[in-house]
Amino acid sequence: MAGNGAEIAAPRIGVLALQGDFREHLAILRSLGADAAPVRRASELTEIDGLVIPGGESSVMDKLSRQFGLAEPLREAIVGGLPVYGTCAGLIMLADRIVDGIAGQQSLGGLDVAVRRNAFGSQLDSFETDLDVPELGETPVHAVFIRAPIVEQVGGGAHPLAVLDDGRVVAVEQGNLIGTSFHPEMAGELRFHEYLLAKVAARAATRG
Ligand code: GLN
Repeated sequence: MAGNGAEIAAPRIGVLALQGDFREHLAILRSLGADAAPVRRASELTEIDGLVIPGGESSVMDKLSRQFGLAEPLREAIVGGLPVYGTCAGLIMLADRIVDGIAGQQSLGGLDVAVRRNAFGSQLDSFETDLDVPELGETPVHAVFIRAPIVEQVGGGAHPLAVLDDGRVVAVEQGNLIGTSFHPEMAGELRFHEYLLAKVAARAATRG
C-alpha cells in the first residue's frame, strides 16, 4: 500500500473490467472508502492491494484475460496471496475445476472447489433468496442469483460460507480468496466487499 506513514492511505482495489458488471463493484468499493480502479492490463495488477472479479460470462472473461495477457499475471497474483473476491462468473474464474465449461474454457484457479456453470437450469434462470452467512453476522444476506453456478465439491483447503436450504454450497472461502454464486452488489449488500477489505487490511498489517 502506498503511504508516507503520516496517514493511512485508502486501499487500492482493482475490479477486473474486461466484461460484466464491474461498474457496480467499483461504486460499492468507493462507497466503502476504497480507492477502486478498473483493471484491464497486467501492469495495473502490480498497483492493487485486492481485486474483485465481477459477474458476467466466465467463458468470455477467460478468453479476454488470455488475449490481453492477464491470465498468467492474475494466477501469479492469486498464488502470491492477493485478496480476491469473485462473484458468479468471478467465482467460476477462481475455481480450480469447472464443470460444464465451454470447450477449452480455463479458469485462473485458487479455490480448491469444483464449480458447475449455469447450475439452476433455464426454468430457474434467476432467483433471489435470503442466506445465513455466519461470518458476516446475524442479519441474513439477500442473494440475487443470475444463471448462477453452484459449488459442487469443496476440497480440503476451502470451506463453505453459505449454503442453500437444500445444502448446496453457494459461497466459499480459502485463505485470501472469497467466492459467491450470487450477486451481493445487486441487493445493496456490502458485507462481502467489507470482508475483502478486512483481508486486505490484515495482509497489509503483516507486510508492514
Ligand atoms: N452463467 C455465467 C457464466 O457461466 C455466470 C452468470 C453471472 O455471472 N451472472 O459465466
